[in-house]
Amino acid sequence: MAILNEHFDKLPGQYLFPEIARRVASRLEANPDLATRLIRAGIGDVTEPIPAACAAAIRQAADELSHRDTFRGYGPAVGHPFVREAIAAGEYQELGVEPDEIFLSDGSKGDAGHALEIFAPGNRIAVADPVYPVYVDTNVLAGRTGPIGADGIFDGILPIRANEANDFLPEPPDAPIDLVYLCFPNNPTGAMIDRPGLASWVAWALERDAIILYDAAYADFVADPSLPKSIYEFDGARRCAMEFRSLSKSAGFTGVRCGWTVVPRELEGRLPSGERRPVHPMWSRRWATRSNGVSWPVQRAAAAAYSPEGRAQVRELVELYRSNAERLREGVAAAGLRVWGGLHAPYVWVGCPNGLGSWAFFDLLLDQLAVVTTPGCGFGPGGEGYVRISGFNSRERVEEIVQRLETLQVPA
Ligand SMILES: *Cc1c(COP(=O)(O)O)cnc(C)c1O
Repeated sequence: MAILNEHFDKLPGQYLFPEIARRVASRLEANPDLATRLIRAGIGDVTEPIPAACAAAIRQAADELSHRDTFRGYGPAVGHPFVREAIAAGEYQELGVEPDEIFLSDGSKGDAGHALEIFAPGNRIAVADPVYPVYVDTNVLAGRTGPIGADGIFDGILPIRANEANDFLPEPPDAPIDLVYLCFPNNPTGAMIDRPGLASWVAWALERDAIILYDAAYADFVADPSLPKSIYEFDGARRCAMEFRSLSKSAGFTGVRCGWTVVPRELEGRLPSGERRPVHPMWSRRWATRSNGVSWPVQRAAAAAYSPEGRAQVRELVELYRSNAERLREGVAAAGLRVWGGLHAPYVWVGCPNGLGSWAFFDLLLDQLAVVTTPGCGFGPGGEGYVRISGFNSRERVEEIVQRLETLQVPA
């Protein structure tokens, strides 16, 4: 009989979003009128249509595919050159990232997991906590960890605490580490690292020959030009970092599916024999072996996001979500709650008042305000005691949440 991957059993059951759905459904059952009042500000999905320039490009691509002389079959697995060039010019102009260092994909969730295929078991891994759960979970499924402990930490993964004491900006650890996952602007906290902060991570990685897996899915939300949008703004990052980027949150491509990973030619690791090897040819080989890449209409749409109209439309979308989050931040603060994020991210991170846990405060916001949030404990043990509120919404709904927050009554 076929033997299955036992590491799946190490992951706790899919708990967070099903449990949120269950709690919302139980309220709706008891009170059907709630349906019209309910505002969902929990799930991290965009709400607005994709840019018109991208939609037009998808239509054009459909036409191309339907005529013999413009039809496209297989393209390069890592993306057509015109798309990689558009991204290089649009995102990395002064940073020296070349088009052939940009590997197109169907999104960065997948790429974050694929990365494990080029790293051997036995790497010492650190992950910020709280954070997007994908980094830890993909390590678990790949058998790179031991079991989960009573503290919610997997054996073999070093959590790097982001908390109120460090303004939710995890700092480089002293421990010996080979691979570290960082995410800025951060999901879920909305925190954004400053230049000295990220420079210290790069220096730390260079010093110990570690690799930073840098998830910048929310780079477009960085509103202050003095803050870094890409890790390649730092000298030496080409020798120590891969960067994951996505059009999901910027161009609203959560359903279209397109992202990319940057692998600089200078990035190296070591084989078990000790020999140094560049990562770039391995990442190319992984793509050629595993995939035939992103569909033609999606590549057309991705390039269109970098046309002059596309860029303006993307900017407008990002500013809607970002300013929504900033407005939520004001509303949460005005309600007397502790709040972080919301300035360079679509999320705000709210401290639960009076010692309430994440789920208790989630229930309170649901029952008193009919607002659905995300309990922070779903993003790692370091998220307990917080909830995330998402700015992915219409402005009207955001204003409604802000008004309702004024009526919040927290039990003493
Ligand atoms: C949404 C999100 C992504 C994007 O994933 P895609 O697969 O590109 O849709 C990546 N990283 C983080 C932290 C996210 O929140």
